[in-house]
Amino acid sequence: MSSNDLEAAKVQGLPGSEGLIVGPLLVIDEKERIVHPEKISASDIDRHQQLFINARTLYLAELDDLLSNLDKQTSEIIEAQKHIVADQEIEIMINKMIGDDQYCVDYAIYKTFNGFIERLKESGSDLFRQRIIDLENIRDRLVALSCDEQEHLEVEKGAILVVREISPTDLVTYHERGVKGLVMDKGGVTSHAALIARSLNIPCLVSAKHAVHSARDAKTGILDANKGELILDPSADVVKSIKKAIKAEKKRLQSERKKKERSETLDGFPFHLRANIEFPQELDLANQNGGEGVGLLRTEALLYGGMANKSESEQDAFLKKILTGIQGPVTIRLFDVGGDKLNVHTPDEDNPFLGWRGIRMLLDEKDMFCSQLRSILKCAGKYPGRIKILVPMVSLVEEVIEVRNAVEQVQQKLLEEGIPIDEQVPVGMMIEVPSAALLADKFAREVDFFSIGTNDLTQYSLAVDRGNERICNIYQHYHPAVWKLIKMSVDAAIENEIEVSVCGELAGDPIGAPCLLGLGVTDLSMAPSSIPKVKKILTQYPLDRLKKYAMDVLESTSGKEVQILYDELSGG
Ligand code: PEP
Ligand code: MG
Repeated sequence: MSSNDLEAAKVQGLPGSEGLIVGPLLVIDEKERIVHPEKISASDIDRHQQLFINARTLYLAELDDLLSNLDKQTSEIIEAQKHIVADQEIEIMINKMIGDDQYCVDYAIYKTFNGFIERLKESGSDLFRQRIIDLENIRDRLVALSCDEQEHLEVEKGAILVVREISPTDLVTYHERGVKGLVMDKGGVTSHAALIARSLNIPCLVSAKHAVHSARDAKTGILDANKGELILDPSADVVKSIKKAIKAEKKRLQSERKKKERSETLDGFPFHLRANIEFPQELDLANQNGGEGVGLLRTEALLYGGMANKSESEQDAFLKKILTGIQGPVTIRLFDVGGDKLNVHTPDEDNPFLGWRGIRMLLDEKDMFCSQLRSILKCAGKYPGRIKILVPMVSLVEEVIEVRNAVEQVQQKLLEEGIPIDEQVPVGMMIEVPSAALLADKFAREVDFFSIGTNDLTQYSLAVDRGNERICNIYQHYHPAVWKLIKMSVDAAIENEIEVSVCGELAGDPIGAPCLLGLGVTDLSMAPSSIPKVKKILTQYPLDRLKKYAMDVLESTSGKEVQILYDELSGG
């Protein structure tokens, strides 16, 4: 690296979607639109009301255009936006402001949407953060269209978009025009935009503070979302070497996929690497990377966009796609809504992460719960031996007992209807709340398997909101307290002879995965893109060395120490 490159300015952020690219920068510094409360004459009322109708029609057509080439997940977000644009109540309010109060169309739109936005802001709920962005975006587009403003922003192919924040619709539009990377001042790793970036397979940085300000005069950038940085105006030498590295990485990945190395430690101890997925579109990568089935199928996408729960037949079709798209076991997690996972069913709560989430909600919402169980159990009957049911957010033993009873009842009903079932379908639970880990020996007698969710386990044991960018330095999933809870859970599973896997981010992490194997977890589930990297690491060591590493990790006092222990493992 030349001294020039060391001087190149950098913007740091959190990786919302992994990847490395070089490209021209497209920096959009949108100031908040100011719309004046201008009054109109009575003779202009009809015209302004018509301007709103025209703007709405144009906007709906724009959204329809987008829908034509989108995957299912992204389409659902756009559909949710269409619902807001076409909302009758909003139309009545805008028409009233124009007709009764005689305000101009742009102000009527602006004021009406701001009413909703202010109410959401006042609620102070994290849950609505994404909704506010969506409403602001819809407001601004409708105002622009009603004033006949058209955007003609040129996008260079392969551009890296730098914005304060962006709505899903805008991100999809920019991607279609050639954007291949995204950097946002705001947002968490679970924001809609990050989710869409992952689905579009483009690198993305979120919470990149002052990115727009820092990048406003820069022309090109290197977006290294793996490292969490955007390098501004790198030298030609660096660009050349990064391009080389991107090419080499592509080649390496291709050859690694071809090798089909056995999943075993240096001394022949076997392990299994499975995929965490949410959408059927992710199966290709899971297969290419050698995922042995799906270790965590998140099902919340079925409820995505705030829609009511999907019909049973739509759920059946979704599950069929997954079961036919990959070989091996598929662990289906029951709806885990609440917390940061938006859904129409979730109420406004002061502490949503400690609230009506996961199994707590399902046991109250019996229709939704039974319809999901029916769909899963029918599928289990069609693919016997392949499906496992996973219960999220368990904190009480009574909850799993209630789930088991419900499973039995639904199975009985299916049998009465002459529908085949898999009587042995395993029912397991997420260990993601400290009470579940601390009482793992008791839980182990009630379930068939544990799946340790280290994302929430970290959040709940360190009392740190996993999506809050301000305290993300305290969100340490290497923290020894988390490791102790993991060890308790693994030991209880082994003692009670039930299976145990890990499906939180630690499983796909270079520092976390070898420690988990050292603790005795031979089943790890992770983002499909992490599988080759983790396999490469785990095959390098004999099991005894990993056991020693795990014991040292358990004796450490901080997340930093764990990183040092990993350096020792990988260096020596
Ligand atoms: C976890 O909490 O670790 C987990 C895998 O579940 P999610 O990230 O979906 O909450
Ligand atoms: Mg979780």
